[in-house]
Parts: sequence; C-alpha cells; structure tokens
Amino acid sequence: MLDLRSDTVTKPSEAMRDAATDADVGDDVYGEDPTVNELESVAAELMGMEAALYVPTGTMGNQIAARVHTERGQEVLVERESHIYKWELGGLAQHSALQVRTLDGGDRGIPTPEQVRDGYVEEDAHRPGTGLLTLENTHNSKGGVAIAPEKIDAAAEAAHDLGLPVHLDGARVCNAAVALDVSPSRITENVDSVMFCLSKGLGAPVGSVLAGDEEFIARARRVRKLLGGGMRQVGVLAGPGLLALDNVSRLEADHENARVLAELLADVDGLSVQSPETNIVLVNTEDAGLTAGELLDACEERGVLGSEFGTHVVRFCTHWDVDREDVETAAERVRDAL
Ligand SMILES: *Cc1c(COP(=O)(O)O)cnc(C)c1O
Repeated sequence: MLDLRSDTVTKPSEAMRDAATDADVGDDVYGEDPTVNELESVAAELMGMEAALYVPTGTMGNQIAARVHTERGQEVLVERESHIYKWELGGLAQHSALQVRTLDGGDRGIPTPEQVRDGYVEEDAHRPGTGLLTLENTHNSKGGVAIAPEKIDAAAEAAHDLGLPVHLDGARVCNAAVALDVSPSRITENVDSVMFCLSKGLGAPVGSVLAGDEEFIARARRVRKLLGGGMRQVGVLAGPGLLALDNVSRLEADHENARVLAELLADVDGLSVQSPETNIVLVNTEDAGLTAGELLDACEERGVLGSEFGTHVVRFCTHWDVDREDVETAAERVRDAL
C-alpha cells in the first residue's frame, strides 16, 4: 500500500528507535529530563526564540499559545481555512473562551495588513476586544503553500501596531523554510510564538514544539500542565524528536517527489493539479465527473491512499517513507483508478 494520506504516517527509523532506547531521562515535570531539555534548547535556537516547550501534539501547542496570549472572552483573528480554526474541535472556544473572527487569506491563506486592521476590534463597553492574530505556514488547506517571510512580517507588523501578539502555526514551517531557502528563524523573526511538528515530515513518532520568549514559555508550561500534558520520563520520545531536527534538509526530497507526482497526475485526463510548493499535492477531480471520495475508493483498491480535502479535492502528501519510484507507481495507479 502506498500511503499518501499524510506526512504523519512515517514509521520511526532504526536510529530513532535506538534514540528512544538510549535516551537519558528524568522527570520532566520537575524539569529534570536532560533529553527534553536539550530538545527544547536546540528547537528554540532553530526557531530563533529564547525558549521552547516540548508538547505531545501540534494541536496542544497551538491551543496553549492561544490561551497564554489572550484573556477569556476576547476575539482572535484566524484565517478562515486555518487548522487552528477548522481542525482543532473549536478548542479556542472550549479551552480559552475565545470568539473567532475569520479573515479570508485568499489563494495563499495569508491575511494582508489591511485585513488585520479591518478585523481588529477595540475593546469597549459592548465589544470584546481582539487579543491575538494567528497565521499558518505552510498553509495546509491551501495546498502546502510556503508563505514568504515578508508576508508574515507585514501581517505581524500590522498586528503589533494594534498591540496584538502573533502566533504562527508552523506545523510545517521547516517545509516552508526549505522551499524558500531561508532559515526557519527568518520566517519566525517577527512573530511572538511558533508551534512546529516533529511528527510530520521530520519523521519523529510523536511530538511538537512551542517556542517563544522566556516569559511566554514559563506561562505555557503551566497551561500544558493544566491540559494534562505534563509528562514524566519523556526523553524516550524527545530522543527521536532531537534526531528529527537533523532531517530538515531532507524535506527537499519530499518536495521533489511532490513535484514529480503533480507532473505525472497533471497528464491524466480529467484531473487538474495545483503546482506544489512543498510536500502537499492537491488534485481536483471535477472535470473527470468524479467526487474525491469516488476517486479515493478506486485508488484504495489499487493500493494508493490519499485524503479527501473537499467534494472534488484529493490531497496526496509525500513523506520519508515514499521515494521517487513510489510516487511514479502511485501516479500510474491513480491513472488506472480514474
Ligand atoms: C497537523 C497540524 C496541526 C496539529 O498537529 P497535531 O500534532 O496533529 O495535533 C496544526 N496545524 C497544522 C497546519 C497542521 O497541519
């Protein structure tokens, strides 16, 4: 089976399994797990932030950030197709009592400075006031587009001028950095916090990191505990996570495989394919007279998995466990399925 549903499906390498076995551990709730401490310090540096916090999932990282940056009852500006808004069970309302105001970030999912200013609500006797702007890079729903640092800077500057902090959902920020040939810390230069996933293209079995300044991370540590995310000898997970940080440049291979897959699929009559910038390939099935679900069922019978991203949109994701030959085979099977 060629599993292109997500870049989360990778199995840990032998080296990662060894890193789990060999990790030096301690009780991380007491701050005594040396492997976690090392991961947090390496990750903070990679993101150009003062400090970092290891969290079990990207979702928890995003939700902690929202909670720390805001006060109960405020509004948060989110992009209308963003993960933090669409795919986290309404956690902004559930955990932090926030009301969302959505901005339409267009084809690339990035709000303009004008949109940020227009969406801002000043607190008064009737209005809750805006407490946070969130951004996403790469933008998942828009097809893994890599947002240029200047666009992030512009939105962040508009927010900062209004006194708003900015959180970046950078689940795949390393993909963006590789695609744009900049460091991750360039992308995060003007945001106040960033979350990124070790368990996506970087290949770790578990884990994400939330980074920001010292004070933010100290508060985030308390909220992680509140949400039940205080873990003990978790170096056994952070060890593979540390190795994952060595895999940033490897993401280029996923991007190349996505380009190959997209080119091959674009040659199939009835499919229209968005040119990938990173490791996500969006395929529209409308001209073939098929829904995404129908195409995916036929693909599955032929040994290829993808995910349904809309009535007529299929997402294929390249990752560490598929190589060039696999994507060529996958494209052949999709053609056959159609
Ligand atoms: C996967 C993802 C998350 C959440 O990560 P989990 O570890 O699955 O909770 C957040 N944001 C984006 C953009 C993602 O793709």
